[in-house]
Amino acid sequence: MIIVMAHGASEQEVDAVVARLAERGYQSHISQGVERTLVGAIGAPEGEKEALAEQLALLPGVERVVPILRPYKLVSREHAEQPSVVRIGKVPFGRGQVAVISGPCAVENEQQMLEAAQAVQAAGAAVLRGGAYKPRTSPYVFQGLGEAGLEILAAAREATGLPFVTEVMDPRYVEIVSRSADALQVGARNMQNYDLLREVGQADKPVVLKRGVAATVREWLQAAEYVAAAGNLNVILCERGIRTFESETRYTFDLGGMAAAKLETHLPIIADPSHATGNHRLVPPMALAALAGGADGLMVEMHPHPDRALSDGPQSLTPKRLIGLMDEVRHLCTALGLTLAEPVG
Ligand code: PEP
Ligand code: MN
Repeated sequence: MIIVMAHGASEQEVDAVVARLAERGYQSHISQGVERTLVGAIGAPEGEKEALAEQLALLPGVERVVPILRPYKLVSREHAEQPSVVRIGKVPFGRGQVAVISGPCAVENEQQMLEAAQAVQAAGAAVLRGGAYKPRTSPYVFQGLGEAGLEILAAAREATGLPFVTEVMDPRYVEIVSRSADALQVGARNMQNYDLLREVGQADKPVVLKRGVAATVREWLQAAEYVAAAGNLNVILCERGIRTFESETRYTFDLGGMAAAKLETHLPIIADPSHATGNHRLVPPMALAALAGGADGLMVEMHPHPDRALSDGPQSLTPKRLIGLMDEVRHLCTALGLTLAEPVG
């Protein structure tokens, strides 16, 4: 970090900064400019920097403290020679390989999920989704089937061969969800649940980490760093819209943020235009925009009968609409030189 001294800071004030750095085991490098003195802190032990920067900024004569390194390491581009590939089951995401994850918002019953899985497969999407544990805004509405939902998802996988991703909301359930799911989803509402991030970081399944509705790109990457630091580098980030003043769409699909995150991290990033827009009519154009903008895949909600869905019907594609979208996705992938994963079977 660099400590920028205020204009006119005294020699004693600079000395006090240097002394404080020495006390904490750092060396200093002073550059005396015409207007300002800068003190570079060298050899800062990781983990102490943030607090020390805040403390130094309070010393007399200090104008501000500028961090040099990013607050994440394992997930940063610098940590890897090339973009990472993360697989859900056998389906690869990243480095020019894209795949579509589709299925209903929630697992409702066996019939619905089987129909959904068959429709996903028929349309050519390679990974199935469905929530067994649902983070609902109201405590009075359908909360998901829990463990029974996991069994239904496993049966749908058995019938079609599609791997599935499903959300885990609580560190206590990571083990049980890991036992059946091919990937663990951490939802937007839990992006900063650090106990949960640490727990999925110890699981032996890939993690789909959604961006929090009010999280900056940096906070999102720091959340991924929690998972990575706990030992799991198989993280797929998912842009799903953020909260802004705009009310025409459910959230605001932040493709600029997604592209910015891609510059920073080697992890694959997928996009979820369903939760971002909340409107099935907006899903196809935004799905294509995301792929054109560099997304490594898509998560798209589809319900066999959106008009009977227990959650997120308005943003769910019908099976027929998913087929239409997949046709467009195929064309776009060809144009962009991307390899689209085909469903097994
Ligand atoms: C979901 O994918 O079912 C979901 C609840 O998404 P989010 O966490 O992005 O709201
Ligand atoms: Mn949903």
